[in-house]
Amino acid sequence: MQQRYLLVAFIALLLIAPQLASEFHVTLLNYIGLYSIVAVGLVLLTGVGGLMSFGQAAFVGLGGYATAYLSTATELPGWAAFLGGSPWMGLLVGILLTAGVALLLGLLTLRLSGHYLPLGTIAWSISLYFLFGNLEFLGGHTGISGIPALTLFGLQMKDGRNFFYLIWAVVMVVVWLTLNLLDSREGRAIRALKGGVVMAEAMGVDTARSKVVIFLIAALFGCISGWLYAHLQRFVNPTPFSLYMSIEYLFMAVLGGAGHVWGALVGAGVITILKQWLQDWLPKLFGASGNFEMIVFGFLLVFVLQRARDGIWPILTRLIPQRASIRTVVAAEPLPTKALPDAGQVLLEANNVVKRFGGLVANNNMNLMVRAGEIMALIGPNGAGKSTMFNCVSGVDRATEGKVLFRGREVTSLDSREIAKLGMSRTFQHVRLLATMSVLENAAIGAHLRGSKAVLSSMLHLERAEEKRLLAEAARQVERVGLKDSMFEAAGSLALGQQRTLEIARALCADPCLLLLDEPAAGLRYLEKQALAELLRKLRGEGMGILLVEHDMDFVMGLADRVVVMEFGEKIAEGLPEEVQRNPAVIEAYLGGVE
Ligand code: ADP
Ligand code: MG
Repeated sequence: MQQRYLLVAFIALLLIAPQLASEFHVTLLNYIGLYSIVAVGLVLLTGVGGLMSFGQAAFVGLGGYATAYLSTATELPGWAAFLGGSPWMGLLVGILLTAGVALLLGLLTLRLSGHYLPLGTIAWSISLYFLFGNLEFLGGHTGISGIPALTLFGLQMKDGRNFFYLIWAVVMVVVWLTLNLLDSREGRAIRALKGGVVMAEAMGVDTARSKVVIFLIAALFGCISGWLYAHLQRFVNPTPFSLYMSIEYLFMAVLGGAGHVWGALVGAGVITILKQWLQDWLPKLFGASGNFEMIVFGFLLVFVLQRARDGIWPILTRLIPQRASIRTVVAAEPLPTKALPDAGQVLLEANNVVKRFGGLVANNNMNLMVRAGEIMALIGPNGAGKSTMFNCVSGVDRATEGKVLFRGREVTSLDSREIAKLGMSRTFQHVRLLATMSVLENAAIGAHLRGSKAVLSSMLHLERAEEKRLLAEAARQVERVGLKDSMFEAAGSLALGQQRTLEIARALCADPCLLLLDEPAAGLRYLEKQALAELLRKLRGEGMGILLVEHDMDFVMGLADRVVVMEFGEKIAEGLPEEVQRNPAVIEAYLGGVE
């Protein structure tokens, strides 16, 4: 509730600010608004999605130049004449142009990983900058002047004070859209990018698409900022769209609070005011003119990265009561579920699977089968190749040789996302959760494939009915695995054992018929293990097939219907738990070593 008051107070402040502030300060606030729009996009792209871009200013430039050119053009060819003379056409064309360029650049650069992505963005950022400066019809380095003022509701916006309201209205809309997006199924998919592509894909998220989406949104925000800039300034040249400015936008996003949407406004404000101030004072101090503020920014950024990685926003929110993102789950009509296959039906079959990593044979001629309504345990000493086998059957990795069939269909070369769609869901040996996200939301990532509402309806919050059902389902699964009391806590605050259990809840949210659990009992206390065994028995009773990799022999022996034992990548025994337990080769290889 308090949050709402703060928001109202902020809006009230925005409404009266132009009446109170001097011309100079209104201009400063206008610039903060323009920068905020770009920085919000960067928060989404870099802070939330983890994709570093040094090219945002170039998109601002596309928006600025598109409208600058079209709204001042007098000699457009006949077929394009309707595009000229209007800022609104400039906006439309700018948006289309930016979307096209961003899609192209996104498809080219977003495949790059690690350092190559920022390097890629630097490359095209510089290219676009020089393009602006060298194209004759864009006025070269002198730019384009005489851009008409905007007219809105009959009001000509020649005055910074009028423009103020337009800019800040756009800022608020952009913030609203972004917050909405993040608080949705698509938003969880975007946030899951930081938890690693492997996890997100295994939950059915099309990570390549999610990356392109945030890249596109960030670019479009840049474009809109550029459009506003051009009509505020009534003049454009290449300078404000350079790599240097892109770096400044990154500063704003990181300083404000990399992953926090409101932080973008704080970052834009702090950097803009600081820059103004430093530009006034530093030359006096040094007795020479120059971009000294960049030096201070450099130190500031290093300081922030060392002392307050998450930027200023989290420090501010510590002072005011936190908004609990989601605190209640409302009852909603349950999501439709798929009927489980009849018990005994073969779900998964691996035939002669071989997996080599260079010269290392991690899996050699592995065969296994899992039926509906049974628990199959895959055991073996550390390094035997169990996780590798898991990865091969779940599509995380691809078998070098051999065949994997799931529900009678060959899935050997399918992606994990495709396999997830068919009804296989898994957990990871090394827990892959989003530490700062709540238990509930982590589980809800698993339900990704059960929703269908896309980005636009998420941004406009038109998908609330579906979202309620997804969250209700996540809550049901969290409760089912016994984590109800921690539902709204951050996943990172749970004990490791509970985190593993949460991974099971997340997997169950996908409504699978086959569950792959990689060492689910590791780190669990005795009673927790008992509860887990109880849950797995119940799932088996309902007809679910479960493939379990486990270390804890007692746990497996009391639970599994059949056991496959691996050593050095090969199957050395298979059978009922009691049989396997008595097998001399197994005792030698595994039990002997452990007991
Ligand atoms: P387990 O899960 O039974 O403990 P793993 O399947 O994790 O065993 O590992 C089997 C073998 O394959 C180990 O020797 C491991 O070092 C190797 N291995 C696993 N993943 C990779 C990889 N991505 N690249 C190279 N070697 C790997
Ligand atoms: Mg393993």
